This record gives sequence, C-alpha cells and structure tokens, in this order.
Amino acid sequence: MNDVFIALGSNIGNRSVFLRRALKEIDSLHGTQIERASSIYETEPIGYTDQEAFLNMVALVRTELGALELLGKLQTIENKLKRTREIHWGPRTIDLDILLYNQENIQTEVLKIPHPRMLERGFVMIPLYELQPDLHFPHTDENFSEIIEERIDNKGVYVWKRNNGEGEFGLFEN
Ligand code: AMP
Repeated sequence: MNDVFIALGSNIGNRSVFLRRALKEIDSLHGTQIERASSIYETEPIGYTDQEAFLNMVALVRTELGALELLGKLQTIENKLKRTREIHWGPRTIDLDILLYNQENIQTEVLKIPHPRMLERGFVMIPLYELQPDLHFPHTDENFSEIIEERIDNKGVYVWKRNNGEGEFGLFEN
C-alpha cells in the first residue's frame, strides 16, 4: 500500500459538494481508501485573482495504485465532475493534485512529485500541516513547523469548516 497526500480545491458552484463528491470518487477507486481529511479552508485566489474564493483541503489516501495510474484516475474524476479550465489558474469545479506519494521523488513529463509548487502555497501547506504535522518531506531536512513558520504566509487562508471528527471522513454532515 502507498500513502498519498492529495490536495483538493473548488471555486465554482456548490464548492463543498464538489469536494465531497471528489472524496467519495477517490474512496471508491480500486484498492484505495481515504484515511483522513483536513478541515476545509476558504482561500483567496492567487495568480488569476478575478474569481471566486476557493475551498481547499488535503486528504491522506492509501492506495494500491501506482502514481501515474492514480493521476489518470484523478483526471477522470475531474472530468466527471465537469471541471472547466479555460483560464490557467482560473476557476474550476474541482482540482485534484498529488502532493506526495510515499517518500518518492517522481519527475516525469506529466507527473512531478513532490508537487513542484506545494511549498509556496499556504492553501496546500496549512491543511497538510493540520493533517500531518510530523510529516517528513522527501526533498528537504527542514521540519514541517520550520517550513510553516519561515515560508508560509497564512494570509487569505481561513478555516471554513473545522473537521471535528464527526460524520463520514469527519466532514460530510451537510
Ligand atoms: P493543474 O491545472 O494545476 O491541475 O495541472 C494539471 C497538469 O499538471 C496535468 O496535466 C498533470 O499532468 C500535471 N501534473 C504534474 N504533476 C502533477 C501532480 N503532482 N499532481 C497533479 N497533476 C500534476
């Protein structure tokens, strides 16, 4: 089994419904379970800023799938949930990124793990830190709290729905 951290984001329509549907789709993939999920955070858009705020979260997933196979399945889920992607970094119903796959370093044309921009993104690092504060990063000896304190700006990242451990995956009661 492989331990994988996946980042989820949505900023169109009923954002929390897209997150929930994506989690359920991931959980129903062959040989794959959602182990834990972070709180849901509301975050101000970066890059293309003339768009609605995002909901973001991170899930810890255990899977038998290989990294490339998992990427393909996540893209199928994005398409199924009618992801629209007309503007780079623009609005999307659902965005699924593989952050970490075990402690592996994967650098191919279509898949780069650790996700190349994760260390700069508060909307990824803050939910990840909530989920696994003692996580070790394959590409650095810094510990997670140092990375958070020294590099991560939490401006524009707010808890939208706290994961209080109740309900399916701790967040599915609405
Ligand atoms: P984005 O628009 O940010 O979701 O980027 C999607 C593209 O990033 C896809 O074409 C993927 O092949 C590529 N990609 C590279 N590394 C990753 C990763 N770790 N997780 C998800 N997509 C990735």
